[in-house]
Amino acid sequence: MLVHVCCAHCAAYTINHWREQRYDVSAFWYNPNIHPYTEHERRLEAMKALAGQLDFPLIVSEDYEMVDYFRRVVGHEGERCRYCFQMRLSRTAQVARERDFGAFTTTLLISPHQKHELIHEIGTGIAEEMDIEFLYADLRKRYSDSRRLTKPLELYRQQYCGCVYSEWERYANIKIE
Ligand code: SF4
Repeated sequence: MLVHVCCAHCAAYTINHWREQRYDVSAFWYNPNIHPYTEHERRLEAMKALAGQLDFPLIVSEDYEMVDYFRRVVGHEGERCRYCFQMRLSRTAQVARERDFGAFTTTLLISPHQKHELIHEIGTGIAEEMDIEFLYADLRKRYSDSRRLTKPLELYRQQYCGCVYSEWERYANIKIE
């Protein structure tokens, strides 16, 4: 199976979870929603370190595609997560199909800060459209366990979801509608 990974701290428990279900797990990094680019690179470095520690294959997309992200989101800022999930999960499903994986999922499903039902809806829709299985698990109760796993590794830990809008919301304590 191919797991879309958004950050090391959400990946740690999620990767272990699917391995315990006896899946052969590879990870896929594609996150054009992480801004600015230097932040994207810091999170990617943390992910590479985790892949080394937990010994799982990590496929890194060469496409950052930040411009494409903004082209989709501008004018729909209050609904931006839908476009963001769609972009990341459809690329994951596409790569999974190209490389003969049998199923895909995402580490976003462990985060209580994400729009969980929307991720489920989008993942299921893409699975039907692209004829590949979307593996769903509600791992939100294990969010803090995942962070406990990465604590001793002292990996970079982000302070906001990813996009510039989320950074503004976090530090200005506002909500974009
Ligand atoms: S808040 Fe997070 S999930 Fe929503 S659009 Fe921004 S980066 Fe994507």
